[in-house]
Amino acid sequence: MKDVRKFIPLLKSKVDPVEYGVYPLSIHTSDETTVFITRIRGEKHIVSVGPSIGLEGTSQRIEDKEVIIGELNSANAAVLREVFPFTAPSRVLSKERSIGCGDRLGLASAGHTRVFTEYDAYPILAQQSMRELNLTKRTYQDVLDAATFAVFQEGYKKGWGADGDHLKTSEEIQHALSVGYTMITLDCSEHMNNEFELMDTAELDARYEPDAQVEKEYIGRKIVLSGGVSFTYSEEEVKRMVMTYRDVLTHAQNIYDTFFKDGTYDADFEISIDETTTTTTVQEHYFVANELIKRGVSFATIAPRFCGEFQKGVDYIGNVEDFERELIVHQAIAAYFGYKLSLHSGSDKFSVFEIFGRITGGNFHVKTAGTNWLEAMKLVAVKAPDLYRRIHAYALSKFDEVTQYYHVSTDITRIPDLQSLSDAELVKLFEHNDSRQLIHITYGPILTDTDAGGKPLFADDLFELWDEYEEDYAHLLSIHISRHLYELYRHINQ
Ligand SMILES: [Zn+2]
Repeated sequence: MKDVRKFIPLLKSKVDPVEYGVYPLSIHTSDETTVFITRIRGEKHIVSVGPSIGLEGTSQRIEDKEVIIGELNSANAAVLREVFPFTAPSRVLSKERSIGCGDRLGLASAGHTRVFTEYDAYPILAQQSMRELNLTKRTYQDVLDAATFAVFQEGYKKGWGADGDHLKTSEEIQHALSVGYTMITLDCSEHMNNEFELMDTAELDARYEPDAQVEKEYIGRKIVLSGGVSFTYSEEEVKRMVMTYRDVLTHAQNIYDTFFKDGTYDADFEISIDETTTTTTVQEHYFVANELIKRGVSFATIAPRFCGEFQKGVDYIGNVEDFERELIVHQAIAAYFGYKLSLHSGSDKFSVFEIFGRITGGNFHVKTAGTNWLEAMKLVAVKAPDLYRRIHAYALSKFDEVTQYYHVSTDITRIPDLQSLSDAELVKLFEHNDSRQLIHITYGPILTDTDAGGKPLFADDLFELWDEYEEDYAHLLSIHISRHLYELYRHINQ
C-alpha cells in the first residue's frame, strides 16, 4: 500500500485511490475542501485536504494544502453530518417503501447501502433496541456514527433513517431523539394487559370496567372497508379489547403528546403492538388505530402481531394462506386510515415476502435485524474455521442462559456435532435452523464476554477478521438483503 500522503498532491489526477488505501466512493468535496476515508497502517482514518471543515486530528501541510488526519470518532461523525447532509439520518419511514437494517456490529451498513442503490426502498441503517444495545455494549451515538461513516464511505446519498427501536419509556425515547434519531418505535408491550385475551368469560365479566362510549361505538358494529373487506365486533370481543388495550392507548398518547405533537422533534412514529403472545386480531388493529387517531395521535406505521411465528433468523413458521387472508384485512385497515403496515423480525421470512409486497401494494416497512450478524459469523466459519469452532462450542455452553431473552424453538440436540464436520462443511451450519438460532441469540456473550483477566474471549479476533475481510462481508450482506428485496418486490404491481 502506498503512503496516503503521496496521494494528496494527486487528488485531481487519474491515479487509483485504492492503491493508496483510499476508499474511492468516499471522496467528497465541500467548497475548497476534499474529504475521504483511508486506511493508515490498517486503521481507518478520515482525511480533509484544504481549508479545515472542523475535523479533529493531526494537522500538517502537504505541498500548499492544510491536511487533517483524524479518527473515525463521534466528534468527526458530527462534523460530517453538518458538512455533508447526506450522512445525517432523515425521515424515511414516511416514504412508500422502507426497510429497517439493524447493524449490531457497526460494520454492516456499507454492504446494506449497496442494495438500496438498486431498489427504490429507503433503508433505516441505524436501528437498535435497548436489548441489543445492552447485549453489545454499544450506545445510540455509536450506532448512529457507524451509519454516518458507512454512508460517507460508500457515497450513498439517497437518504436513510435512524430508528430508536422498541423503546418503552420516555427516558429512552428522549435519549434517542436527542442524539438525532429520526424514528421512534414505541413498544407498547408493557402496557398491554394480555391476561384479558385468554381469560374465561366469567372472569372477564367480573373484571370488565364498562366504557359506555366504546360499547356504543363498537358492539355489533360492522366495519366495511375497500376491496370487500368487512368484520364485526361482538360484545365479548369489545370487552376483551378494551381491557387489553386501554393502557396502551393512554401510553401511546402520552408519548405522542410529549415528543411529537408540537413538532419538537422531527421524527416518525411507529406503534408496535407485536411483542405479545397472541395474534393481533383485525378487530383489535382497527380499534387501536381508530382510538389513537381520535385522540389526535398521528403515526407512520403500526406493527401488529401477524399470525404464525416470526422467530429470529429463520423463515416464517405457519400457514401462509392464513397469513395472506389476514394480511388483506390488516392492509385494508392501514390503507383506510392512511399509514403503512410494519413487519417485525423480518429477516429471512422468504416464504411471506412476496405476499407482503403484493398485498400492501408495495407500501410497507419491514424490519430486518440480526441476520447481518449471522452473515458475519458465516464469514468467520469460512475464513477462520478454528475460531468458529471455539465460538460455536462457547455458544452451546451459553444457550440456556440466553434463551430467557428470546422466543425460539431451537433444539440444540439437532445441531450436527462439530467434530463430524470438516472445515469446508462448517458453512453448512448456516443452512440449519437450529444452529442459525443458536448463533443468532448468543451474540451478546460472544461479543462481550471476557476471560478472568478481563480480556475479550473472542471480540478482538472477530473484529480483526471482519476488518480484514470488509469487502467480502459487504458482498455477503448485499446478496443477503437483495434476496429479501427481490421477494418483496416480485409482485408489487399485481
Ligand atoms: Zn417487534
